[in-house]
Amino acid sequence: MLILIVEDEITLANEVRNFLEKEGFSCEVAHTGRIASEKLFSNDYDLLLLDLGLPDYEGIDLLKESVAKNSNTAVIILSARSALEDRIKGLNIGADDYLPKPFSLLELKSRIMAVMRRKHGIRANIIQINKLHVDLDKRQVLSGRNIITLTRKEYDILSFVVLNKNRVVTRLQISEHIWGDIIEENYNSNYIDVHIKNLRKKLSEYIEGDFLETVRGIGFQFIEINP
Ligand code: CA
Repeated sequence: MLILIVEDEITLANEVRNFLEKEGFSCEVAHTGRIASEKLFSNDYDLLLLDLGLPDYEGIDLLKESVAKNSNTAVIILSARSALEDRIKGLNIGADDYLPKPFSLLELKSRIMAVMRRKHGIRANIIQINKLHVDLDKRQVLSGRNIITLTRKEYDILSFVVLNKNRVVTRLQISEHIWGDIIEENYNSNYIDVHIKNLRKKLSEYIEGDFLETVRGIGFQFIEINP
């Protein structure tokens, strides 16, 4: 899951980034509104953590840009402006949640998980699908009681396609979700295919059937069997 942190306080931005990366998220940071605006324009993020008080930009305008560019990007406003008015304004424009500063990092994480659950229409941090248990909180995949040992990238790809089950996800979407700022040759290469191949092999040791389908020339689709 790729997160853009927009925060002009460098110490705070680094603290949030370090914490979230330890928790297994991929993060990019923008210290100015202008850089954030450029990043929003060129990448698709799963989540935007947005400080409203930026020196060079109206945070609310960034929120509008994000919503216009990709309505699938979840937004959590992080702001010292705890005034009710700002909160309502942000939520009305399309922010998913609002966390007044100062906040605890653990609370931030649980808000992120809650927002992502709502976005994907799931109730718990554990997804049960095709006899797999995907624990989004622990970043673990189980089949019965067996933990399926996956690399970080394999887990990222699997959880991404599972969250988008029964929909085709493109190589570009996977690449952006996992690597962030993409380089052209990155997603044209067979990089992702290698991870998918390894994933299929690992999953097939525990469960039957290939539900991780290749959609020729486009990408991949995780098929839910008998939901
Ligand atoms: Ca600020």
